[in-house]
Amino acid sequence: MIRNPEGFARLLAEVRQFVRTECMPLEAQVDQTDEIPPAIVERMRSLGLFGHSIPEAYGGAGLTSEELSLVNIEVSQCATTFRARFGGNTGIASESLVVDGTESQKKTWLPRLASGEVTGCFALTEPDAGSDATALTTTAVLDGDDYVINGRKCFITNAPIADLFTVFARTDASAKGAAGISAFLIPRGTPGLSTPPAYRKMGQHGSPVGEVVLQDCRVPVSAIVGGQPGQGFRTAMKALNKQRINLAGLCVGPAVRLVDEMVDRATSRRQFGQAIAEFQLVQQMIAESNVEVHAARALVLETARKRDAGEDVTMEASMCKLFASEMCGRVADRAVQVFGGGGYVADNVAERFYRDVRLFRLYEGTSQIHLVNIAKRTVALAQVRKAAE
Ligand SMILES: Cc1cc2nc3c(=O)[nH]c(=O)nc-3n(C[C@H](O)[C@H](O)[C@H](O)COP(=O)(O)OP(=O)(O)OC[C@H]3O[C@@H](n4cnc5c(N)ncnc54)[C@H](O)[C@@H]3O)c2cc1C
Repeated sequence: MIRNPEGFARLLAEVRQFVRTECMPLEAQVDQTDEIPPAIVERMRSLGLFGHSIPEAYGGAGLTSEELSLVNIEVSQCATTFRARFGGNTGIASESLVVDGTESQKKTWLPRLASGEVTGCFALTEPDAGSDATALTTTAVLDGDDYVINGRKCFITNAPIADLFTVFARTDASAKGAAGISAFLIPRGTPGLSTPPAYRKMGQHGSPVGEVVLQDCRVPVSAIVGGQPGQGFRTAMKALNKQRINLAGLCVGPAVRLVDEMVDRATSRRQFGQAIAEFQLVQQMIAESNVEVHAARALVLETARKRDAGEDVTMEASMCKLFASEMCGRVADRAVQVFGGGGYVADNVAERFYRDVRLFRLYEGTSQIHLVNIAKRTVALAQVRKAAE
């Protein structure tokens, strides 16, 4: 749903301008230095990029799912690391609060997340709890009016620079699986919470990812998202369900850019006396990529509209994430092929995107996990339909 087409067109044009004129020229520099210049982060704040998904009542733009998807397709047409700087705040790092936070928690944190004053992160994964996040072993033990948290989170986007951590821990040691897990809001500076230096990664340089260590970290009972223990896994799934549509949009943007880059290269590079774009086998790579971009974009926008209409899109969100991330990987692979040897050399645009987008098939549910979930839901829905006949 697009609420105000004219106003939204202006917002989109402003984002597009920022991406093209301020971020794209810095892509190679950020890849090499592993840092987004502070002036660019300040521009992200002034453009309101940190608050797009946060409700207007708390200082954000309150974008609908369709609006947010269109913005995501724009912001991810430059190196995806730029979007990762504010993407937590406008995605999983704020969504738990938006969907399940108490009024007091929302008032305390959402305006600061929306303005970008505070950077948030979502700390679910652990060394022995990845795809099976319900296996998490971080504990939160009640001690008077406080919980004492112990455990270690890994692969947490923005952990090294975050000011606010949404940490998932087991509050009921006797409960198995998803039950007995609670989400805690923990500000940086809380004794017992520390973040080691960021990992060195394959791609998305400039987007710090690292561990969160919790050692006798004492937080008040009021730090539980929503105030009630035991609801944390449900909260995480609600946040991730929306995030999957966001992420799918973020997979479309790089593919749009790479089709443009492929066309530029194919029309300017000459071999055998003609532009390589005139060879049908090169045309096939461009055409297949463009078709897939259009298919993914259509799927993402259709799912976002359904979500805006209040429909349950759990399965469709999984399909979006799976299809768009796999599509983006295929397009990046073809882009390297169209660039030839140059596509394998550092600082080439295809080489950089190839590394950067590899992550999309891994986080927020691997492709295999989404396939398994889609299959389960497809079978279950077929059985329901059969029973109703
Ligand atoms: C750069 C980066 C940023 C991240 N950011 C965050 C973050 O901000 N917050 C956060 O909480 N987490 C984050 N993650 C963690 C990410 O969500 C996990 O890496 C992901 O869920 C996979 O878990 P794993 O790495 O432990 O892999 P594993 O679960 O060990 O999976 C390994 C392989 O086994 C397959 N597999 C596992 N189970 C099944 C199954 N049932 N059926 C079929 N195949 C299966 C997987 O698909 C995969 O191919 C991030 C990860 C990375 C790399």
